[in-house]
Amino acid sequence: MIKKKLLSIIVPCYNEEQSLPYFYKEINKVLKSLKNIKYELIFVDDGSKDNTLRILKKYNKESKNNKYISFSRNFGKEAAMLAGLEHAKGDLVTIMDADLQDPPLLIPEMIKIITEEDYDIVGTRRVNRKGEPKIRSFLSRKFYRIINKMSKIEMVDGARDFRLMKRKVVDAILSLKEYNRYSKGIFSFVGFKTKWLEFENTKRIAGESKWSFWKLFKYAIEGIVGFSTFPLVLSALIGLLFCLLSFIMILIIIIKTIIFGDPVSGWPSTICIIFFIGGIQLFVMGIIGEYLAKIYLETKNRPIYIISESNNLIEEKEENNEKK
Ligand code: UDP
Ligand code: MG
Repeated sequence: MIKKKLLSIIVPCYNEEQSLPYFYKEINKVLKSLKNIKYELIFVDDGSKDNTLRILKKYNKESKNNKYISFSRNFGKEAAMLAGLEHAKGDLVTIMDADLQDPPLLIPEMIKIITEEDYDIVGTRRVNRKGEPKIRSFLSRKFYRIINKMSKIEMVDGARDFRLMKRKVVDAILSLKEYNRYSKGIFSFVGFKTKWLEFENTKRIAGESKWSFWKLFKYAIEGIVGFSTFPLVLSALIGLLFCLLSFIMILIIIIKTIIFGDPVSGWPSTICIIFFIGGIQLFVMGIIGEYLAKIYLETKNRPIYIISESNNLIEEKEENNEKK
């Protein structure tokens, strides 16, 4: 008899009491249809303030395959995904949003591809951004263009975190121990043979998106700082350009004074130049500061998340104790 493969499905949840019942129903429909596959659903409650944890506990009572990890506070989706990956035991692992924006119906196809074809990852991309504010789509498209120019690692526009991975890919992802985790970059960084499936964007089933404009902006900066040092090169280039410019200006002033005996005047222009240069200097310092802040956080070596309760871990501990 062939050993059944274990599929781990990681679901980060932050205040998802409204979407979870829909998601649970849909995913179970799909899971029932899968043959020769065992599964575990790992819900990661990212410090929700609503009834999410209570719902997850209810699911856990219904089946041992439904596991949960609950954080002591909101640590962000990146942390939730990491906790899921660290605790997943599957031969195949996937990450899904709880709002049904990642269609569970794709899972059977993804499993088929990964088992029958020569791929290590089956990723998903949105081909459009329907139902999203126009300005948000525009800015994210620009972001991908910029980051792909700056970084050696290619980030795929529209790629979702929803992806099916073989064990070796998960182990590779976990071997990157950085504190500032930017999954889109980490996923690209580890490489492996990837097949992309495309699907149309849908609106979330219930509840609200947790992303504000400001959060997205910070996330974009995080990505750039995390996966490119180009802004630092740019700072140096700006510095060089200004040195050159000032050298030319000094020459002009000296020549003007010697040949035409024209004392340089102009308080307003001086103030403008001081402001301009001052601005550029602060801007460049800000860029350096961003990198410095990342180093600072990295050296502190703080945990990326803190678990307040979970069934998964308790079970494992019991298993370990029994072995002893
Ligand atoms: N999420 C999370 N922690 C957060 C924010 C979001 O675990 O701090 C989860 C959320 O519950 C959902 C997924 O990440 O399952 C995607 O979030 P959302 O739908 O708000 O993002 P969008 O689809 O709008 O990009
Ligand atoms: Mg969503």
